[in-house]
Amino acid sequence: MGESGDSTASNDLVRRTSRPKKKRQNRYELRPYTRKPASYEPSRAPDNNVLFYCGQEGYNWVHQVASNFRKHLKSKHDIDVKPTWS
Ligand SMILES: [Zn+2]
Repeated sequence: MGESGDSTASNDLVRRTSRPKKKRQNRYELRPYTRKPASYEPSRAPDNNVLFYCGQEGYNWVHQVASNFRKHLKSKHDIDVKPTWS
């Protein structure tokens, strides 16, 4: 019986490197505070991120990062968007 134990050892090493990322992300319902982009406006940035158009005011305010849009709602309109877990 020729037994070599190196197959189990390398298996363990592979498992260590690929650790699943646990990313907890709160979900915020931002849609009520946004408006739909006009036909001439892009709905997505060139890097495929969704653009947020502020629906609370007359002028255009666009941001592609949700957390920044939330900050904008809080500071400019005193709207505190609560996270929703689903
Ligand atoms: Zn605004």
